[in-house]
Amino acid sequence: MESPKFKTKLFYLLILVGLGLTLAGVIGYYNLQTMKKHVDTLYFGSLIPLSELTAITDTYHNTLGKSVYLWNQHLIGDEEAARSITLGLDTVDQMWKNYLSHDKRPEELPYVDYTEAQIQNIHRYFVKIQEHILHPDSSRQISIPILSENIDAIHRTIYRLITYENASARFERSQLLAHHENALTQLSTLLLVILILVMGIAWKIFTRIERQQTQLIESTKTLQHLNFKLEQASYTDPLTALSNRRYFNLIFEREFKRAVRLEKPFVFMMLDIDFFKQYNDTYGHLQGDLALQAVAKTLQFTLQRPGDYPFRLGGEEFGVIITDSSCDNGIQIGEKIRANIEGLRIEHRGSKISTILTVSIGGVCIVPTPGMRDDALIHTADTNLYAAKERGRNQVVFGNTL
Ligand code: GH3
Ligand code: MG
Ligand code: MG
Repeated sequence: MESPKFKTKLFYLLILVGLGLTLAGVIGYYNLQTMKKHVDTLYFGSLIPLSELTAITDTYHNTLGKSVYLWNQHLIGDEEAARSITLGLDTVDQMWKNYLSHDKRPEELPYVDYTEAQIQNIHRYFVKIQEHILHPDSSRQISIPILSENIDAIHRTIYRLITYENASARFERSQLLAHHENALTQLSTLLLVILILVMGIAWKIFTRIERQQTQLIESTKTLQHLNFKLEQASYTDPLTALSNRRYFNLIFEREFKRAVRLEKPFVFMMLDIDFFKQYNDTYGHLQGDLALQAVAKTLQFTLQRPGDYPFRLGGEEFGVIITDSSCDNGIQIGEKIRANIEGLRIEHRGSKISTILTVSIGGVCIVPTPGMRDDALIHTADTNLYAAKERGRNQVVFGNTL
């Protein structure tokens, strides 16, 4: 009756675990995406631009400034110097374009615009130098100190940008690390909460199961005990507390088969109180019951061995089974029972053969062979009982007429 509740609880537990893991997955995904963005910003937003800016300053130094200087020293020709200037300016333009294509933070834009204006200025400066190289104008000369000063100026401007990009990279890195820490804390907290919840619920479910199992074991024990008592009651005669006819049928069949198997003597006696109707008539039914109880007690008292079984077969008739014994011993026990009951000296004025209560016993003793019917044994004992009655009662008659 509890299992649907357990099923529901287990279902909720699974849902909880599922939700928790989904949430952990979503948080993990979100954090990974954010970290990817940080890495992108760090790599493409700061580090790559750094290399482009460095390449621009290199170009100013090594390509543009150097070629003008070499031309001035007559170490390279006009054509070569002009080509170098075109190449240098194209390289700078290309690098600057690449640099501009990366994401820029708003606070960075004034630096960028300023630098771009400076680059355009110096671009115009080099175009003029190139024109001069190709079409010399004697009134205007190239000043190497001015060249150096211009290159230094653009270098300083770009260097400021580089410094800014460096600072940005450091900032992005610290952001990335902080976010990484944060993500780890969030995920481990979430997983810990799920784990504690799942363990708590599982513990509750399992203690409940354990408690129910204990209850089940206890009720099974009680039931077994009650069953045992019920079975005992169903095999016991309530008046005399002897085993009843039902139990007799069971034991008779079982012990008979055992005697067949072991080839041992099997003794069965039927016992009937003499003139019991008159006893009841004389002393009343209640007194009759007491007499039945006294006879039963005498049977129990006389039959002490584990292989001896007394029964109340019904009314004032009793049965006795004796196993693991000889026939002679069986007959002796029969005689002992009769004598002991007589020895009770229960007054019986209604008896036609005595002044005290007596019993007649019909017995049979046999070493049964396979195929022999056990009801024939009952029939013989009954016949012998009849004979005992016929011969004057208060006696034991044994004999096999099978
Ligand atoms: P006999 O010597 O031939 O055996 O005569 P009898 O009177 O004993 O035999 P009969 O079968 O005529 O009577 C048996 C009596 O036993 C009749 C019945 O009232 C009495 N009886 C049977 N069961 C009980 C019982 O539980 N209590 C009492 N008080 N009497 C019982
Ligand atoms: Mg009788
Ligand atoms: Mg009788």
